[in-house]
Amino acid sequence: MSRKLIGLGVCPGVAFAPVILIEKEESTQDKQVTFKEIETALEKSAQYLEEKLSKIDLQVAKDVLEAQSMIARDPDLLEKIKDIMGDDLKSARQTLNKAFDIFKENLISLGGYFAERVSDLDEIKKLTINNVLGIMHSSIELNSEAIVVADDLSPADTASMNLKFVKGLIVARGGPTSHTAIVARNLGIPAIVGCQDALTLKTGEKVLVNGREGYVYQNPTNELINDEKKRESEYLEKFKSVLGPGKLKDGTVINLLANCGNSVDAKKALENGAEGIGLFRTELLYLNQKTPPTIDEQVEIYAEIFRIFTGKKVIIRTIDAGSDKPVPFLNSLKEENPALGVRGWRLIRQFPQVINDQIKAIALAQEKTDCDVWVMAPMIDTKQEAQDFAQIARSNGIKKVGVMIETPSAAIISDQIFSVVDFASLGTNDLTQYVMAADRLDSRLSDLTNSWNPAVLRMIELIGKNRQTKPLGVCGEAGADPLLAAVLIGLGVNSLSMASNSIAEVKGFIASLTLKKCQEVAQQIVKTTSATEAKDLAKNLFS
Ligand code: PEP
Ligand code: MG
Repeated sequence: MSRKLIGLGVCPGVAFAPVILIEKEESTQDKQVTFKEIETALEKSAQYLEEKLSKIDLQVAKDVLEAQSMIARDPDLLEKIKDIMGDDLKSARQTLNKAFDIFKENLISLGGYFAERVSDLDEIKKLTINNVLGIMHSSIELNSEAIVVADDLSPADTASMNLKFVKGLIVARGGPTSHTAIVARNLGIPAIVGCQDALTLKTGEKVLVNGREGYVYQNPTNELINDEKKRESEYLEKFKSVLGPGKLKDGTVINLLANCGNSVDAKKALENGAEGIGLFRTELLYLNQKTPPTIDEQVEIYAEIFRIFTGKKVIIRTIDAGSDKPVPFLNSLKEENPALGVRGWRLIRQFPQVINDQIKAIALAQEKTDCDVWVMAPMIDTKQEAQDFAQIARSNGIKKVGVMIETPSAAIISDQIFSVVDFASLGTNDLTQYVMAADRLDSRLSDLTNSWNPAVLRMIELIGKNRQTKPLGVCGEAGADPLLAAVLIGLGVNSLSMASNSIAEVKGFIASLTLKKCQEVAQQIVKTTSATEAKDLAKNLFS
């Protein structure tokens, strides 16, 4: 009998292969050691992580491995260890537990993105304990096609695998922003996270993973395998073959843009057919930086991205530091509630120079290049904030000035906001988090942090009505879901920005629909009473 396991699909696709279950045995051995021995073991961990870094060709994993090796060499960490040990012989395990606990607490207090990276610290600690004890680090042997199942996977685990054999990933932990999810999306490997029963699967047994729907079949019948594969390939065949710029069946233009955080993403976006950049998240450039970049440094890096999209549109966002993406030089204060704290545009209250310098740098990069540069501010709540930003940006020579609409406040008064800016972009990740009052990083609340919730869609309906004729885009994850993208178009959105490997599928899907159809479906969807009902109805009405 086939058994169905449920999780959260984070990369679409169907795969059928035998399971390789990664079991990480925790050693409980210990040893009395000197400070010098721990110092050497930490250096070995740093070297091990660097070696893994050199073996993987995936930027997101490289970034984490680089950060991990830096932490292993962090003088603050060594100092803490020295404080704990003095000149005595001490238990290696207890010392490292204590030192890493202090380090972790600091990270957790920063919140969001950094709190999520606590698992990276656990891994450095484990590596270092193994180094002290002389235990070999296990690597993951893959010699044939497999679906990798684990409690969780770190970038070092990923770098240890022969990825060409990985047909699917299933992990028990993790949410949509976990390493496994990010790595899977970048590599296009069907993947499911938060699959609580994952560890009941056994090495060698065959499973079918459906990363689009978020389920796994243990012991699927041949009929089931064929049905699932056929459905997926029909879907892809139908939608992935559409070429050219984004438009609906009736010719309505829908610009299909990419989200990016650096020049590697931007180049990939161009290869994936992005018509421009719809969200350049500038804060991602500075997540490890303790001092602000100079204007010149910024001009160089922004211009590099503008040049990749010469003659095309790039929407660059002023620094959205704070909450899930704290930047050390802006968010050093502990906040009780960082998602509701001083983040995004609100940082102008404390750091006017940093924000003004950034806008100046963007304007200079605009002058040096031939790109259609649009600039927007994140976390705008009031007309006054929108007006302040527009005034500063325009006085620096920025031609297109807009804001993110990602708070309920901005949504409710979006008529006032549109009256002072040239365009707006819906941040559906935050808008959903704030409308539903549910932390976007908490995988236990994934039913609430789902943009299909009718409350979120009704709020977007209001914004769609208020935009009149001004451009309204979407740059949150919702734009990458073809069905939801079509509903958003029906609610008044006229461009979509997403991770660039989702563009082809969204392009193909919307090309099969007219604007009238999108509008009619959207009108039905906003009357539903749950996210599940909304999505199911959209599936039916668009089929
Ligand atoms: C959003 O909130 O939807 C968004 C695009 O911004 P970020 O995910 O960077 O907060
Ligand atoms: Mg946001």
